[in-house]
Amino acid sequence: MKKNLAIKIILLTLILLAIIFSLFKEPNKKFFQNKKTKILIVAGHEPKAGGADEFKTIKERDLNLQLSNDLQDILSANPNLEIIIARDNNGWNPDLKNYVETSSTTIMEWASAMKNKMIGKVDSGEIELIDPNMKHNNAATNAVLYLFGTNKWIEKNNIDLVLHVHFNSNPKINGKPVFHGYCMYIPEHQYSNSSSSRIFANYLNTEISKIEKPSNMLQEKDLIIEDQELIATGVYDTLKVPVVVIEYAYIYEPMMLSSSTRNSFIEYAASSTAIAIEKYIASELKK
Ligand SMILES: [Zn+2]
Repeated sequence: MKKNLAIKIILLTLILLAIIFSLFKEPNKKFFQNKKTKILIVAGHEPKAGGADEFKTIKERDLNLQLSNDLQDILSANPNLEIIIARDNNGWNPDLKNYVETSSTTIMEWASAMKNKMIGKVDSGEIELIDPNMKHNNAATNAVLYLFGTNKWIEKNNIDLVLHVHFNSNPKINGKPVFHGYCMYIPEHQYSNSSSSRIFANYLNTEISKIEKPSNMLQEKDLIIEDQELIATGVYDTLKVPVVVIEYAYIYEPMMLSSSTRNSFIEYAASSTAIAIEKYIASELKK
């Protein structure tokens, strides 16, 4: 009898140990199996040139960079994320620059092949061309190469999530700044990354709406605007991953005019964006 009891106790202890062990083991196993989520932050426009909006001495491309740097600083503290930036204070990301400059022919041939594929789908009635509500400025030749090059590079580097950081300024009415607020662009709903991008944009919308007014410009009233023609959001289906182009504010809004209020707006915007990204990844990408 005593021997049986001893066996039972040993068995129960073993079962208990197995349960405890599996409880502790599972999260660790998961942690090691999970690869880092790769996020690309693109500070809008080129390092020293490009169609960056300017107001007085404030250059949009510099604001984009400042916000991207802040966002990178915050997100880099999360060990589950790998943050890659397309440009920093020294210019283009060297790897991206090297890729774009050594593969320009490949990139532009790929872009035109994707364009032809889309034209074919339009001709066969598979895809409908959408007349854009908002006309964007055409990007300069070098900017076009870098934008398509970035899309190809995103695919090559298995990047999971892309955010393009911008500030808005156009248009002014009679040369006077009149608009305010934020808005976002996502791929048009016939593109393969449209619904994932909309979900990502919804997370951003929740956080950014706490720190900035919605855009009061009629063409931006939807706030999350589908676009078929922007290269950044993957024109011709050149991107497969969630992507959002965000215009955080108009560069001539009152809080943007003095450096102290501008810096704090940018810090708030970066931390709100970081919260949205972390929530999006936790709830949507890690399912
Ligand atoms: Zn811009």
